Amino acid sequence: MATAGKHTPGPLVIGLTGGIGSGKSTCAALFSKLGVPIIDADELAHALVAPGEPALAEIITAFGPEYLAADGQLDRRRLRQQVFAEPASRRRLEAILHPLIRFNIKELVNSVQAPYCIVSIPLLLETGQTDLVNRILVIDIPEALQLSRTAARDRLAMGEIRPVLESQANRSERLAAADDVISNAGSQDELAEKIQTLHKKYLSLSARN
Ligand code: ADP
Repeated sequence: MATAGKHTPGPLVIGLTGGIGSGKSTCAALFSKLGVPIIDADELAHALVAPGEPALAEIITAFGPEYLAADGQLDRRRLRQQVFAEPASRRRLEAILHPLIRFNIKELVNSVQAPYCIVSIPLLLETGQTDLVNRILVIDIPEALQLSRTAARDRLAMGEIRPVLESQANRSERLAAADDVISNAGSQDELAEKIQTLHKKYLSLSARN
């Protein structure tokens, strides 16, 4: 945005996305190690429903007191089951949370001092939030690997992961939207090398901003 004749561009904003278990958190941690600011939509969503937050009160009003656990925390598991079972519930929850998450992302991007930042948004494409970012970085892995890594990480059965996978954009939809793609079918060391290469690319792109 131009202010008093002085051009003050914001940082280059990279939207990091990919399916469950594709390696978003792992990639974000690698970028973070290189000093890149990370804005994580999942973390923002968690913070928004902490006890005492207005969004938690809104959710309880919309869904009912049975979604509040005895310790005052949101019963996330119960809510997740409900929104996967009923699309209308999912839309109701999104209508409460998404505007707040968007607002917080914009605020955080505005405060970034670095040449570029990573905004990790698992449902970047599904929720039509691509206007928040300048480029889309997709983490791509074959579905079988996605299932096995998620099962190992979350100690879940494949049958529990499938509905999540099916509710998300598929591999080809993601690849079609990508400006950059990282394949995470290899080792963690290979991934770190790929992140290094992208880091250089993003620094050079942001210098031209
Ligand atoms: P997401 O954040 O996209 O759900 P994670 O970054 O948590 O995915 O990765 C899913 C799981 O796979 C984690 O347990 C992570 O440690 C593991 N993982 C990620 N990348 C690799 C890799 N290249 N090789 C082996 N395991 C990996």
